[in-house]
Amino acid sequence: MSCLLCASDSLQTLLVTAPLPISHHFSEQPHTPERYPLHLLQCQDCALVQLENLPPSQALRPAFSWMRYLEPESHLDELAQWLRPRLDTTAPKVGLTYKDESLLQRLERLGCPDFRCLEGLELGEPERIDDAWPEKFEGCDLVVARHVFEHSPDPLQLVKNILRHMRPEGILVLEIPDTVRSMDLGEYTTLWEEHSMYLGRATMEHALQRLGLQLLFSQTYPQAMEDSIVTVWSTRPGTTPVPLDLPLELSRGARFGREFPAARSRVQERVAALSTDGPLAVLGSGHLTCTYLHLMEITASVDLIVDDNPNKIGLFFPGTNLRIQSSQALRNRPHPHCLLGVNPENEAAVFRRQQPFLQSGGRFHSIFPSSKIHL
Ligand SMILES: [Zn+2]
Repeated sequence: MSCLLCASDSLQTLLVTAPLPISHHFSEQPHTPERYPLHLLQCQDCALVQLENLPPSQALRPAFSWMRYLEPESHLDELAQWLRPRLDTTAPKVGLTYKDESLLQRLERLGCPDFRCLEGLELGEPERIDDAWPEKFEGCDLVVARHVFEHSPDPLQLVKNILRHMRPEGILVLEIPDTVRSMDLGEYTTLWEEHSMYLGRATMEHALQRLGLQLLFSQTYPQAMEDSIVTVWSTRPGTTPVPLDLPLELSRGARFGREFPAARSRVQERVAALSTDGPLAVLGSGHLTCTYLHLMEITASVDLIVDDNPNKIGLFFPGTNLRIQSSQALRNRPHPHCLLGVNPENEAAVFRRQQPFLQSGGRFHSIFPSSKIHL
């Protein structure tokens, strides 16, 4: 394999996980899902942290139509205000996926009405761009692609294929999750079989500069979990070099990999200690929880998984023989400890809803190092 961005073959292994099931492979019947180990590499020439060999795209495509990922939106009003005076109000605008609808709706309210969100491009496969692009939207002046670039098996080709459908002086908005803080905190749930790359602002800017685009705007917006990095590019050629502190980036990646075995051992020891009080429950069944349980190899210690998403109740959690139950189950069958796989920003709301569990002596332990109640 060569680097996804710079094609260098100087790739260093950071860590290799146990084989993990695809985190959205919920099933109605017990089954043994396909598993794929995550092999995390770092390019020694451009510092890009990336996965070797993504699972096949058929395996990654969601099997349930209700499956949608919510991305942070608190910064979108500010971004829309920044974009508005720079856009041609009469030219069509394109969002690469459903995740872009909320920004384009904001722009519509600001007087830019003509937009379309494309379908089926969530995995960022470059070869799907041409077929998905409506003829009416050729030569558009704005393309928004929030949380797609990092999914792409060929990210630069993805952007090249998008540019072919834009007018010469168009604007491209690329938003990605910032994985720098996760790597510094040892937040291993950042690993996900759907993300081919793990970027920060420096590596992102450096990557796009390879295409000769001009950086107009770049901002990191703080979020409770991964921060959001928004970069806005003009399709007009640019020449301003973007600096990259290669030794800093390489040492961050190396530390993240090196410290994984100790982090996993610590989690396993904590889970073993909690289990002496009784069976362990888990609240939240999203991809972060799935990655965590399998990455840390603690699924055998879990006795109950609850989630109040009505679409998930009754389905088997990926790679386990546990059916997801509503959080009512925490009241019916008390568990002394419950791992919490929800955004730390939402913990207070969980506590309010789960008062019976807390009043019966139950305790929550977040799977996220950034939480005050981290395991
Ligand atoms: Zn590289």
